[in-house]
Amino acid sequence: MVVSFVSRDGSRWFPEYLSRIDASCIGCGRCFKVCSRDVMHLGGITDSGDIVDAGDGADDEVERLLMIVDHPGRCIGCGACARVCPKNCQSHITSSD
Ligand code: SF4
Ligand code: SF4
Repeated sequence: MVVSFVSRDGSRWFPEYLSRIDASCIGCGRCFKVCSRDVMHLGGITDSGDIVDAGDGADDEVERLLMIVDHPGRCIGCGACARVCPKNCQSHITSSD
């Protein structure tokens, strides 16, 4: 089901929901700063390939940072995160499923 809303001027708005962020993410945090919905948070990949929360004291183990989409259901599909991403590593979907 494709979801749409009506803008203030009466035109249709088709939200594009953030569904995933791939491994080419550099963890710059730009998407996190513009998102008003707490959809994602900063994490890290360890030497052994595990994805961990960057803020839980695992800094020494983290090889590099990346953004994690942990609450996709909160997304309203505003598209702000896609506009600021320098790596084009996000996927968006038109359905809320
Ligand atoms: S589309 Fe909007 S609400 Fe959804 S994750 Fe991106 S910035 Fe947040
Ligand atoms: S803006 Fe793009 S590269 Fe930066 S943290 Fe978000 S998804 Fe990763």
